[in-house]
Parts: sequence; C-alpha cells; structure tokens
Amino acid sequence: MSDLARAGPGNPLAIGVDIGGTAIKAAIVGVGGELLENFHAPSPRSASALRDFVHSVLKRAKLPVQGIGIGCKGIIDAASSRVKSLPGDLHFLEGRLLSEVIDAGDLTVCAENDARTALIAEVLWGAARGRRNVVLLTLGTGVGGAALVNGAILGGAGGAAGHLGHMSLDPRGGLCICGNYGCLETCFSSRAIESDYWAHLHRAAPAKLCLDSAGQPPNTEAIFRAAADGDESARHVLDCAFEYLAAAIVSILHTFDPEILILGGNLARSSSPDRISEGCWLWRCCRRGGFGLLAATLVSNLKCTILGCPLAPGAC
Ligand SMILES: [Zn+2]
Repeated sequence: MSDLARAGPGNPLAIGVDIGGTAIKAAIVGVGGELLENFHAPSPRSASALRDFVHSVLKRAKLPVQGIGIGCKGIIDAASSRVKSLPGDLHFLEGRLLSEVIDAGDLTVCAENDARTALIAEVLWGAARGRRNVVLLTLGTGVGGAALVNGAILGGAGGAAGHLGHMSLDPRGGLCICGNYGCLETCFSSRAIESDYWAHLHRAAPAKLCLDSAGQPPNTEAIFRAAADGDESARHVLDCAFEYLAAAIVSILHTFDPEILILGGNLARSSSPDRISEGCWLWRCCRRGGFGLLAATLVSNLKCTILGCPLAPGAC
C-alpha cells in the first residue's frame, strides 16, 4: 500500500515548498513526515509565478491539505511569513507576506528561512535526532546556515542569526550578494567555484573544460568531475574553495561548540567529508583539538527542507 493510500482523513496532507535561488521545489507530504510526491521548477521570477506554482501543486493533492509550509532564502519573519530581507534574484519577494503572495484562501501558510527548515527536519527525522546543539550548512548556489542551541533554533535579536554563509573570511575578497566582501558564500558555493574556474579559462590556464556553445562556463558538477580526472585548474579551484570552507567550519566549531555539524545541499553531495579534510591543515588542527564533529546529512536536502516546514509536528 502506498503512503498516499495510507493517509486518511485523520492524517491530512501538507504542502512543503522550498524557494531557492536556482530552483523551486515542492512536495505533498503527510503530516507524519511521509514525502508523497515531488515537484520542481526553475525559481520563479515574479510573485504571480510563485503563486501559480504552489497552486499547481495544491491541485495535485488527493486528500485535504492542512496547510502550506515554506522554506525561503533570506531573513524570514516566521510569525508573519514576511520576507524581511532577500537580495538577489528573489528580491521581488522582499517586504511581502508569503501568505498573501500564495493566496491560498483559508489554508494556513507558514514560512521560515530555508536552512532553518532543513535543520528542523534533521532534528525531527534526520542526523540531528536526539541532539540539542547542532549547526547545519546548506552548500549550493549560495550558502545557508542554521544553529540549534540548547534545543532551540537560534533566531537572534532581528531574526538574522545563523546566516553563516555571510561570515567574513576575507575582507579583501569578492563582492557578496549581501553587500559585504569575502563572505563564505563568495569563497565556497556553486557560483564561487564556477566563476573561479571561468577566471582560469579566461587566463588560459591549463584546463580540460571550456565554455559551452552559449558561452556559459562549466557547472560545478563538471568541475568536480574534471578535478577527479586530473584537470589542473579544477583541482586548484576546489582546493582553494575547500580551504575556505574548512576555515569557516573551524570558526563555527569555536563559536557554537556543536555536537555535530551537518552539511546539506548540492555541493555536500558532490563532495565527501574526506574531501574537506584533504590537504587542509586547518581541519587537521581542528581534529587534533578534539572536534571530530562533521556528520553528513542522513536525509536529502530536498526532503529536509520540505519536511521541515513550520507545520511539521514538534517543529522547533
Ligand atoms: Zn555575504
């Protein structure tokens, strides 16, 4: 019997939505945590496109829907679902109430920062079960972060706590989407790796990859494969990126002293904990200090983010 068949009137459904910088993902989920059906599309470029995507998912639900939970980049006011700060491609949502944008009638619409929803899901169903002090990084187009401190998600005075992708690693580094320079996100992210590799191509460095017919640089997955295949530029780009990531992790460990640190996102799937420690003196120092704290996520990032919607039972 399928999960959908088991879900009866006493077990209504919820819709989980993950609004990311590259793609929007959604799922119909049982409120007990079963992921029943997935949907994905390129990130919306307007509020109406976001509403239309969510309503198309709602129409696919074959049982009553209890509500809609949204994980979104940026600083989100969970109490009101207002997007307080969201620079970049999704800027059109800044200042908007996601509950109004979705316009789902009587259905409850909850929203929270996407890295926090991912961490909530890890606490409920994944690698952080039974833990009270955990840090999670989502490594993808950008870098998200969230911290569980003494059993509660850390919010901060203005709701911005845990935005670890914007910790400053190099004050003279590249310009970040947040307006600062040298953030972790400018050093270790898909965008950072792809632009660094493009710079190598531009300078005619030894490389096995090239721009495609549309002039686009290779994507991160191709760069990882090229590095494994001996591409000198790819190896250099990734070595530098991982060194920055390791430096950030050392700072995180000293700041939060977590039981475990969870890595999620596309880049976490492309690499392994060993790759992070490979050739990185900072990580080795960290291990010598007794901080053997890295744990790969046990649940896919999609499932974590979507199941961690604020509707989830017991969500922090
Ligand atoms: Zn930044």
